[in-house]
Amino acid sequence: MLSAEIIAVGSELLTPTKTDTNSLWLTEKLNEIGIEVKLKTVVGDDRARLEETMRDALRRSDIVITTGGLGPTEDDITRPISALAIGRELIYHEELVEDLRIRFRRWGREMPEINKRQAFVIEGAKILPNPNGSAVGMSVAVGDKFFVILPGPPRELKPMFEAHVLPDLKKSAGKIVVRRRILRVSGIGESAVDEAIAPIYKTYGTVETSILFNRSEIEVNLAAKAESETEAEKTLEELAGKIVEQLGIAVFATNGELMEEIIGKFLTESGKTLAVAESCTGGLIAERLTDVSGASAYFMEGATTYSNEAKTRTLDVSGDLIKAHGAVSAEVAEAMAKGMRERAATDYAISVTGIAGPNGGSEEKPVGTVFIGYADESCVKSLKLNLPGDRYLIRWRASQAALDYLRRQILKTQSETAK
Ligand code: AMP
Ligand code: MG
Repeated sequence: MLSAEIIAVGSELLTPTKTDTNSLWLTEKLNEIGIEVKLKTVVGDDRARLEETMRDALRRSDIVITTGGLGPTEDDITRPISALAIGRELIYHEELVEDLRIRFRRWGREMPEINKRQAFVIEGAKILPNPNGSAVGMSVAVGDKFFVILPGPPRELKPMFEAHVLPDLKKSAGKIVVRRRILRVSGIGESAVDEAIAPIYKTYGTVETSILFNRSEIEVNLAAKAESETEAEKTLEELAGKIVEQLGIAVFATNGELMEEIIGKFLTESGKTLAVAESCTGGLIAERLTDVSGASAYFMEGATTYSNEAKTRTLDVSGDLIKAHGAVSAEVAEAMAKGMRERAATDYAISVTGIAGPNGGSEEKPVGTVFIGYADESCVKSLKLNLPGDRYLIRWRASQAALDYLRRQILKTQSETAK
């Protein structure tokens, strides 16, 4: 498998204000054709550092791609430094200047003289046209290595790469393709997931499996290498199927979907409706649900009932109940869900009440204590959780747990009615 390396050039990319997104996009494109990106570097507009980075890259990687630093100004040094790094001359191309002059006139301006700098091309390099900007790109063979120099603006780099670089790379990459798949798992820890599925994925030598933990779930990332897309997809489908079989209901997405998308899919398919009553999540669940296009078909209403009075006024939770058990309790979570469902006249309602911290915890109910309530036509119930993390994470995890609780209830009802 060919190895690639990306060099993102630009001092702004070393500051917190600008992120190098080109390398991410390029990596995806390279992976798709079976080229592995082994390293990427961000280099400021510094001649010595850039030259050294380019030389090192060409020594260790089959394909080296730079992005940025092709502009006409003094700080754009990629053109001269790349020529220096490979010991070639820059050749002046009058026709590129003429082309630029015409384009500037079309934009209603005269070409500034400094743009002539963009007409210098490395000796022997292929010129990569740029219909979206003034800097042409270059690609050049350096011994058995392939060196590609692309402009920084994504809207210039992307079409240039797809039209003029990808076809060449495809030819040299041979037949290998890589396809990816993400499975998402809730309610089980990272090591438990690995323990359960390692014996399965280890038997797939052509699939690279990585298990990651993010805010509230475990992600199982599969990357299958094969000689064709169909073959790679077939392997992924088979392995994903075995993982689902092993982990069961804990797998909530098999194609990278988000929890709110899965809920949306279930509700759309069954024609059922949902309302949400939130306390410590402050509307986060409603926001997530309505982030999904088409949510209006099933999401009817959300209420952020933060105070006790609001819980009583809006959801009909009795003041005595709150006094007896506290606002953060199973009883109140259930009353919130029940009240919400009746008020909104929906098939399902879920609720959340909890202590997100950092203040407000007690010995009996420490920070992270969260109750999720659930109501449908035949039952009202709740779940108690002790969630770890800071305020942000507790709120996020509570929102995820509530949606997951709903998902599990829906699946349970579905399998009961199917019996
Ligand atoms: P340059 O080619 O260095 O003159 O870059 C022109 C513009 O492209 C910069 O102002 C950035 O906004 C953008 N740019 C450059 N490099 C990158 C990168 N690696 N990722 C995303 N945007 C970039
Ligand atoms: Mg720059």
